[in-house]
Amino acid sequence: MSADLCHKKELLKSFYCVYSDWVKRFPLACRKGCAACCTQSVTMTSLEGEIVLDFIKVQGREKWLRAELAESIPGKSRPLLTTNQFAEACLNQLDVDSNAFGCWDFTPCIFLEENICSIYEVRPFGCRSFGSVVRCTEDRTAEMAPIHLTVNIVLSQIIEHLNSDNGYWSGMMDILYSLVNSDLVKVYLMQARPVPGFLLEPQEVREIHVLLKKLREQSSDMGSLGDLIDNFMPIL
Ligand code: SF4
Repeated sequence: MSADLCHKKELLKSFYCVYSDWVKRFPLACRKGCAACCTQSVTMTSLEGEIVLDFIKVQGREKWLRAELAESIPGKSRPLLTTNQFAEACLNQLDVDSNAFGCWDFTPCIFLEENICSIYEVRPFGCRSFGSVVRCTEDRTAEMAPIHLTVNIVLSQIIEHLNSDNGYWSGMMDILYSLVNSDLVKVYLMQARPVPGFLLEPQEVREIHVLLKKLREQSSDMGSLGDLIDNFMPIL
């Protein structure tokens, strides 16, 4: 594995820790065994997919994963815009067709075992960002503070940016399929994009500034991500 890929994986894991500390401020109703949000609509970067795959290999479950992926239909519910493409469209005040988000696929996630995530330690950010202050039921959808949603989008953008030199972004199944098979299925993936800017309300700027500062502290060498943070919001 290249030093750069290794560094990115470690950086990403440290970002997961920063987020996990940040989110503790909310009294989330989410509990072990509650898996309403564990569907095949989760998106992620290929970097996150590599981390999941590393874990599956260590567990000796690669054959199982291949069999599960062989049953999947590539590109089934993929969105047509990455998070950063969506942000760019919003910043340019362009209309975004609702089809751009793909159709929500409620098929249970392949990693769910008796309503518990079997890859919990390495689940992608898309899964980590799920959260609700009320218990979700068939009649009640998740509720989240606006700043929680904003931070989720900012972190998703940053994670996509981290992978934007040669990585991809798509649905979890398509990313894993491409990693365990061949380049043939990359047609269903989108190139991860750099951050074009953040979609912030004025009252959210300070909170995001503090968060970016914490991310910046994770490594002295953050490559283009460090430049982005330093230039977007100089750390004083
Ligand atoms: S990876 Fe885990 S947390 Fe994410 S959707 Fe699948 S079972 Fe749920």
